[in-house]
Amino acid sequence: MKRRIIVVGGGSGGTIVANRLAGHLSSEIRSQAVEVTVVNETSYQLYKPLTLYMAFGKNEESEAERPVRELLNEDLPFIQDRGVGLDLDSKELELASGSSLSYDYLVLATGSKLALGRVPGLKESSHHFYGPKGSIKLREELAEFEEGHLVVSVVGVPHMCPVAPMEFSFIADSWFRERGLRDDVKITYTFPGEEMIGKKNIVEWATPLLEERDINLESGFEVTEVDPDGEVLKSSGGEEMEFDLLVSIPPHRGDDLVTGADLGEGEWIETDKHTLEAKRAEDVYAIGDATDLSTSMAGSVAHYQSGVVAERLASQVRGEVPTARYDGKTICFIDGVDGDKATFLEFNYGEEPDIPPESKLIHWAKHSYNKAYWLTAKGLL
Ligand SMILES: Cc1cc2nc3c(=O)[nH]c(=O)nc-3n(C[C@H](O)[C@H](O)[C@H](O)COP(=O)(O)OP(=O)(O)OC[C@H]3O[C@@H](n4cnc5c(N)ncnc54)[C@H](O)[C@@H]3O)c2cc1C
Repeated sequence: MKRRIIVVGGGSGGTIVANRLAGHLSSEIRSQAVEVTVVNETSYQLYKPLTLYMAFGKNEESEAERPVRELLNEDLPFIQDRGVGLDLDSKELELASGSSLSYDYLVLATGSKLALGRVPGLKESSHHFYGPKGSIKLREELAEFEEGHLVVSVVGVPHMCPVAPMEFSFIADSWFRERGLRDDVKITYTFPGEEMIGKKNIVEWATPLLEERDINLESGFEVTEVDPDGEVLKSSGGEEMEFDLLVSIPPHRGDDLVTGADLGEGEWIETDKHTLEAKRAEDVYAIGDATDLSTSMAGSVAHYQSGVVAERLASQVRGEVPTARYDGKTICFIDGVDGDKATFLEFNYGEEPDIPPESKLIHWAKHSYNKAYWLTAKGLL
């Protein structure tokens, strides 16, 4: 009997896991003993890291998108549709088009979405670089901004790429310096906790660098409301901060499919940190931003988790005991330090990251990776 594996989500994690499965199970797929189907709500995949650079005119939307069909191994069926319901007992995925798909194994790689409406006044008063439309609009604002207070505010945690707001602040600093406007632009970076990414040595590394670049750091600033008329941020501690241009990192939410299926306490899938199995359902795996794991919401995490899940599923389909385990491996580049230098963080569960000295070489490594990313999505890197 044919075994059916469905991957919901054709983003970074979804395409990598599907393509890795195509590699591990090529003979089973060719003989039609196994079918691996990818379902994604759009026909294209968005490579999100480029939206940071779009705000500064360094990348365009067209460079950040590729058809999912093109990224997938040719032996894998692709369905452009939205998963809207899950019956975890009868193992059925309901699609927005009205049809449904049955599965033996399910991989949920539905990522995260922005939820600006959760903080009063945020939508009306802030800009963001967390999607192509937002970034292009922000680019127009930055081009016209010549003086005043730029506030880069982390409003929601967890959020995608924990270091992106710091990268944005560094790049904005260089952007205004190059234009001879830096003396007229005050930059403040706020985040709600005391430790960026929950890691002590990142704060120790970043604090002097931010000071050197004259970027004010306001930790422990938890935004609860924004007054669009007065252009004021309000915090849970009763502080107020005026701004002329607000760039927010909005709250994130999980997909409705996950919430509707009751796969977690909140909107993130309760996931075993090593096996990546969903804790509340049989034969369901979860990867990437959709999980409740304490790892960063980062493409690198989705990438490493995809390899583990593909190995485990291949073993299960063959009747073997799955042994692959995820150790929390995370790699995050921090770009824009001192203009055209970068560094990176690498850590596993429970570890403080090593932070090598920032260099131009690492900056170019990040940009080379961004260009080569589509090979990663195809499972080739
Ligand atoms: C500005 C920015 C900069 C970043 N920089 C970096 C970086 O430098 N390094 C790094 O490692 N990471 C970075 N990231 C984070 C990285 O992009 C994400 O962590 C990564 O995309 C997560 O992969 P994913 O597969 O979990 O989700 P996604 O890539 O978001 O894919 C989810 C997919 O599922 C689809 N989907 C959702 N719900 C459904 C449904 N119900 N039915 C069908 N399809 C559905 C979506 O349309 C989407 O295609 C950055 C993110 C941003 C926003």
